[in-house]
Amino acid sequence: MPKAEETVLEIDLNALAHNFKTIKSQLKPGVKFMSVIKAYAYGNDAAGIAHKLEELGTDYFAVAYTEEGIRLRKAGISRPILILNPQPVNYPEIIKHCLEPNLYSARTLQLFIDLAEKQNLEDYPVHIKFNTGMNRLGFTEANYHQIPKNLKKTKSIKVVSAFTHLAASEDWKEREFTLSQIYKFKDLAGSLIEDIGYEPLLHSCNTSAIFNYPSASFSMVRSGLGLYGFANDDNLNKKLKPVGTFKTIISQIQNLEKGDTVGYGRAFKAETTTKTATLPVGHADGIKRIYGHEKAGVFINGQYAPIVGTVCMDSIMVNVTGINCEEGDEVIIFGGPQHVSELSAKGGTVSYELITGISQRVKRVIIQ
Ligand SMILES: *Cc1c(COP(=O)(O)O)cnc(C)c1O
Repeated sequence: MPKAEETVLEIDLNALAHNFKTIKSQLKPGVKFMSVIKAYAYGNDAAGIAHKLEELGTDYFAVAYTEEGIRLRKAGISRPILILNPQPVNYPEIIKHCLEPNLYSARTLQLFIDLAEKQNLEDYPVHIKFNTGMNRLGFTEANYHQIPKNLKKTKSIKVVSAFTHLAASEDWKEREFTLSQIYKFKDLAGSLIEDIGYEPLLHSCNTSAIFNYPSASFSMVRSGLGLYGFANDDNLNKKLKPVGTFKTIISQIQNLEKGDTVGYGRAFKAETTTKTATLPVGHADGIKRIYGHEKAGVFINGQYAPIVGTVCMDSIMVNVTGINCEEGDEVIIFGGPQHVSELSAKGGTVSYELITGISQRVKRVIIQ
């Protein structure tokens, strides 16, 4: 890998391929793979990641918002794209760009059918979501009957998949609850198949469920986090390879005497002769202020250097006393010696939040 000369997020497409194949090897033959690439492919680079996943043979993509899907189409992505969290105002754009909406309520389903009929569409692909206990989006058992009666009659749309989302698939203590979600989903999907007279794709598993509930794979799975190399579990983390490495460099070194202070509010005070390095990365790049005051640190030439004082918008200062380093040296924030899950835990958060929080001003560098 090239040495960083500024703050960059390196994206290793070989690691992505390894993760895709590792997850795919868990699936029974014929089970389809939906790659979840919402939020810039979890903070990576959505188009670069999507092109590689198409080449690897993903069957489907999912993003959260319509705008994310449009960007992928403009980048030349041709596989089907499910929009997980669309709003009715987006429906015309969804149709224009051949995106596929998640319809999760009587209101959204009816509004989409109305538009599809107005545009004389035929068999436009849509997805129906069931709420089996997550209580976020979806038709419940109690309101299944609200699925409009005209769903059977209309020729304008076709239900290409029905799905649900598991609330605690990573937590063995919640096994009973998760199994109850899977049973409810089977039931609801069964009713739907009877009502529409054909069998759409069925899916319930996110990354953790693919490993923990293989019997719930149905005909497709949806994987996000695992593709990027993490899986809410230390053992699984070992099987997967982190795709992103967040790097920066040393802008300047400061040599402090006892009593000198560092940064805003003079939050760090040198107790003795101290050497600090200033790095061009801050809270506007995704290093939250909670990581300051030695809560977390970075790696420089293989050694740990804690963040001293407060995190600035565009800088952090780290203690490099006793570390052999100079201006221009490469610094690793996560990846390599510091796993994302370790760093996120130090900030009281999860890998998902840390990696999707790397702001768009950080340059993404794709490594083939
Ligand atoms: C984000 C998301 C996923 C992906 O979950 P991972 O844990 O990242 O694999 C799957 N399904 C839905 C509905 C999601 O919102």
